[in-house]
Amino acid sequence: MRIAVFPGSFDPLTKGHEEIIRKAIPLFDKIYVAIGENANKKSCFSLDQRLQWIRQAFADESCVETAVYEGLTVDFCRKVNARFILRGLRNAQDMQYEKDIAEANRHLAPEVETVFLLSTPEIAHVSSSLVRELYHHHADYSEYVSYEL
Ligand code: ADP
Repeated sequence: MRIAVFPGSFDPLTKGHEEIIRKAIPLFDKIYVAIGENANKKSCFSLDQRLQWIRQAFADESCVETAVYEGLTVDFCRKVNARFILRGLRNAQDMQYEKDIAEANRHLAPEVETVFLLSTPEIAHVSSSLVRELYHHHADYSEYVSYEL
């Protein structure tokens, strides 16, 4: 089984995340969209709400599962027997940041490979922080999120 973990905050899940997951579906047998819980990082939307949105978006995809984990992503990968970490890349800044995390993870767990998928240019500017900003100011976020917040 080719099992991948797509870790993130998903605060909230955006069309950018959705695109990466949909592109990854043909590549893996199972994808855990895994929310990393961090006591020091305050989220805007509740954990239950974030999980529900992910489940709703991928209700028709039996290979996509949701999960919540605390601690290191590589420890969660080992727990669910995942040999791949999936991450999305929007631009060069993402690349630099993601490369450092991937190197650190490789050091911790050499058996787990990080796989990067590029977002399409039309969706590369989408981020959860942009959606949160629009939501707070009662602005239209429907271009960036596929459901009602
Ligand atoms: P984190 O808090 O770990 O950055 P996010 O939920 O913001 O978590 O992002 C999870 C993953 O989704 C990251 O790999 C990020 O690069 C990717 N991602 C976020 N937005 C987009 C987008 N618009 N296009 C492609 N990948 C994206």
